Amino acid sequence: MSNETKSYKAELVGVFGYPVAENPTIVMQEAAFQALGLNWRYLTIEVRPEQLADAVRGLRAFNMAGINLTIPHKVAVIPHLDGLSPEAELIGAVNTVVREGDRLIGHNTDGKGFVRSVREDAGMDPAGKRVVFLGAGGAARAMAVEMALAGAAHVTIVNRTSDRGQPLVDLLQSKTPAQAEYVHWQRAYAVPVEADILVNATSIGLYPHVNEVPAVAIASIRPGLLVCDVIPNPPRTAFLRAAEARGARILDGLGMLVGQGAIAFKMWTGVDAPVDVMRKALEEGLAA
Ligand code: NDP
Repeated sequence: MSNETKSYKAELVGVFGYPVAENPTIVMQEAAFQALGLNWRYLTIEVRPEQLADAVRGLRAFNMAGINLTIPHKVAVIPHLDGLSPEAELIGAVNTVVREGDRLIGHNTDGKGFVRSVREDAGMDPAGKRVVFLGAGGAARAMAVEMALAGAAHVTIVNRTSDRGQPLVDLLQSKTPAQAEYVHWQRAYAVPVEADILVNATSIGLYPHVNEVPAVAIASIRPGLLVCDVIPNPPRTAFLRAAEARGARILDGLGMLVGQGAIAFKMWTGVDAPVDVMRKALEEGLAA
């Protein structure tokens, strides 16, 4: 007989959001726990903005291993935490909290998930590359900062309003080694011939607006350019299909979503994430 005492206690993680019912992260995290035989649970928890402080107190009271944050809590959670990773501090937003003893530390794995997907799924090293981001919201900010920290030589931020675009360029210029420039997005954007990577980091094309594409001069998309989309649902966006028809290489938003989840999984459990299991579970979940 084994000397080990049986434990019925599961480790808890999850996501706080509002609304949160359509967040699919549970599907990939639960699949990963099951594949590795870990007694962990991922909970999808609806938290209203005015109850975020209480929710974080609950997280501490339940001794949870951590939590993901989604809209509208990624910035609002910061005052309730005990510390931030240097990257989360730079980005100014937290999507993953990790409990270290009795301290809650905020991280941002969104941009790291994208860098991981560029490296692993597209087989491209960001070092020395010229990258163009369409959009300057939370996702663009996390991705642009992490690409710059991963060695991208030049980052262009294309946005329709300068009040979000210019501060991101200023941040990249002052806090990362990359060169950065802002382009005011008025009409169809012509991708410079020197660009290596083009990223749709706007919400254009997200379900149910599946036929919408960002305003890009399609003839400026050349074979060999890596065209990426942040939209995970549907993964094959109209934008990616148009880029593929021009001979570009494409990278979908599922890779980033899986990547950020895989990094959070490792931070929480200390175990390498079964990335293929997570992607398959997410694909099946989104298709259902
Ligand atoms: P934000 O609301 O913070 O930013 C949206 C950005 O899109 C802004 O730059 C906005 O421009 C721009 N935008 C929106 N509509 C238009 C339009 N019609 N024309 C031009 N620009 C437009 O959102 P997030 O950055 O948080 O999220 C963006 C997308 O990324 C969402 O669809 C989200 O689902 C996805 N996402 C995917 C992740 C993944 O892992 N795959 C992770 C995180 C997010 P302006 O500043 O001028 O308003």
